[in-house]
Parts: sequence; structure tokens; C-alpha cells
Amino acid sequence: MSFDTLGLHPDLLKGIRDLGFERPTPVQAEAIPQILSGRDVIASAQTGTGKTAAFVLPILHRFMTAPRKKQGIRALIVAPTRELALQSMEHLKNLSRYVPLKGHAIFGGTPMEPQISALKRGLDIVSATPGRLLDHVYSGRIDFGAIEVLVLDEADRMMDMGFLPDVQKIISLLPPHRQNLIFSATIPPPIMELARRICRNPVTVQIGPKSTAAAGIRHAVYPVSQHQKTELLLRLLNGQEGLSSAIVFTRTKIRADRLTQSLERAGIRVSVIHGDRSQTQRSRALESFKRGRAQVLVATDVAARGIDVKDISHVINFDVPSTPEDYIHRAGRTARADATGDAFSLVTPEEEEMIRDIERVLNQRLPRVILPDFNYQKGDHRPHKPPFRGGPHPHAPRHHRPSHPRSHPR
Ligand code: AMP
Repeated sequence: MSFDTLGLHPDLLKGIRDLGFERPTPVQAEAIPQILSGRDVIASAQTGTGKTAAFVLPILHRFMTAPRKKQGIRALIVAPTRELALQSMEHLKNLSRYVPLKGHAIFGGTPMEPQISALKRGLDIVSATPGRLLDHVYSGRIDFGAIEVLVLDEADRMMDMGFLPDVQKIISLLPPHRQNLIFSATIPPPIMELARRICRNPVTVQIGPKSTAAAGIRHAVYPVSQHQKTELLLRLLNGQEGLSSAIVFTRTKIRADRLTQSLERAGIRVSVIHGDRSQTQRSRALESFKRGRAQVLVATDVAARGIDVKDISHVINFDVPSTPEDYIHRAGRTARADATGDAFSLVTPEEEEMIRDIERVLNQRLPRVILPDFNYQKGDHRPHKPPFRGGPHPHAPRHHRPSHPRSHPR
């Protein structure tokens, strides 16, 4: 399938070509025709599947082909994090190079003034986090009277972050006749209930988890004791030629800061992003990583939502995420679109159970990898299962594949 068959405006096709997108991703191929036909859509698709363009392109097409009925904002994208709100707006601007369009991202943690000025100048489209959006609403700076399309982006994450009451408040202020597009990695019951309440005869688009869709991800588990995690990580960062840019996930902000300091001390170029960092600090960290000045971005889950950086070679779980969904989200940072990438997890014996949950959801056993030349300390490390007995695992990473089971320490 090609983009030409989707019925999008020729100026949008030019923008798509400029970005180098050759063909629609599955979620785009399924959702775009439905959205263009005016239907409400509930799409379950992960970040990394091309979901942003799946809603951005038909919205832009609408702006170009259907005259506005009223003055005011025509489309509203509500997203859980600042990064995601910014990313949809960036995506939108990239795709709308040939479309005169006024859009702005609105999120907390940054000064109000630029947002107020943008709202005063008049906007066609806004991507926003719920809290700051409501601040503007309560101050009388936003009128929703002209909204034609509502997008809830990563609705399940908004629920996890406790934003549903704010989202519901926002929805109650919108004109009743509008198109609703709900994008969510998973559709838990409260999201389904919300969708049923607000959508009219919705179409459901289901795209399999990224883990199965993106065959490009190679998973590997590195058993290690807690106190040797940093050492093992450094060994991985210094020892692999292909490890050009890695996002390293930690469970908490404190662990993110501590790890960053250790990596800095070891001479690694590193930046860090988590919920306690200011918006300016986060933007700088992201920019430094995007431009390749930092080889490693240390991140917590929430802060990393929606980060779109091309060519991330490795996702490393310094701490195993507590749910398989988070694992899939993290792993989705690498191998975006058609690329390939590695997802490594440093796993203590206590975290093995979580890995087994992840394996059940992915429906595959993740290969255990022991570094033959790493000094595992005696008595601290006991892999629960012997790694790599028999032939090489089909998904085994190219590096460090031990040639013989005896390479694992006793
Ligand atoms: P998303 O799932 O929206 O976060 O998008 C993931 C990444 O895929 C982004 O970097 C997009 O620029 C890229 N992308 C989106 N659609 C396509 C496509 N049709 N072909 C290639 N890359 C794409």
C-alpha cells in the first residue's frame, strides 16, 4: 500500500515525501481512511507504530478541504506529558510544511506568557496536557466553541497518571458534535467506558503490540546482582561497537540521578530526564541526546513518554519495569518504524519474576546473556536458569553470545 491511495491532499503527500515516509504503517493504513470518512475511532496502538501521523494527517486534510464553520480552535489533542504534547505539535508542523496552519503546544512547567500570546493570535490546533489546558480555560483564554475534532492521545497513560477527571472536565466543555479519536496502547475498562460514552458508532482499530509488530527489536536479559548493575552497564556501554545511543531506564528519579552521576564519573557523556527536572532541563537533556552530544539518556518511564528520537540503538532497562506494558513501551523507543534495535534488561534474581511476566505477554523467552569476560562476583550472582543451553536463540543479540554454557560463572 502507498500513501497515494489514502486520498490525502496532494500538499500533504509532498510533506510525507519530504519526511521520507515511503508507505503507511499498519495503524495509518487502517485508521486514516476511517478518520477521513468522519468516523469516530478507538485505536489501540503503541507509541512507535506511527500513530501520531495516523491522526495528524486526516486532521490536516480536513483543515485543507473543509472550510471552517466558526472562528477558533478546530482540533484539540490532549496528551499525558509535555513531551508527547510537544512531539505531536512538531510532527504536525513537519507534515504541514505546505499548509498554512497555526498550532501550539500547551503544557505546564513553562511560562504562561508565550502560550497566552499564541492563544491571542488565534490557533487552528492545540496539543495540550490536561492541567495547563484547564488553567487557560478557567482564565477565560480558551474558547472551545469551534472544536471539530478531539484526540485523546495515550489515553491509558492519562488514566494511570490520574488525569481522567481533568480529561472528562475538558470533554464536558466541548461542542457535542465533533469527531472523537482515541489512541491508547491498551484499552482498560475505564477507557472503554469513556470511549463508549463520548463516541458515536466508533470504529475500532487494533494494532498488535509493538513487540510482535516490530520484529526489529532484539531482546536480551543480563542476569546480575543489584550492586554490580552499574559496573555491568558500563561494561556494555564501553564494550559494544554498535552502542551509539542508548536510553537507560531506572525505576525512580533518585536512581536516575545516582546512575547519571556514576556514568559521568566514568567518563560517559550522559543526560538525564525525570519528573523532578524543570522543563528547561528536560528540553536541554533531550536536545543534547538528539544531537548526539550525550551518548546516554537516563530516564524514568513517565518522563520518557513520547520521546521521539531517531536512531536509538539500545534501550537498556537498568531496572526491570513493573508491568509488561511498560516494558513494551520502553522497548518501543528503539526500532521505531522500520528500524532495528536492541532492548537489554539488567535483571537481579528478585526481578526474574517480572521478566517471566513480560515473557508471557510477549509470548517468547528472552535470551539470558552472560558476559564471558565480566567479573561476576562470587556468591552474589546466581542466574536462575542456565543461559543459552543448546543452539543460539533466534532473537539473541549479535554481541556477547557465549559460545559455551560453561562461560557462565559458578
Ligand atoms: P509515533 O508512533 O507516532 O510516535 O511515530 C514513531 C516514529 O515513526 C516517528 O519517528 C515517525 O516520524 C515515524 N513514522 C511515522 N509514520 C511513518 C511512516 N509511514 N514511515 C516511516 N516512519 C514513520
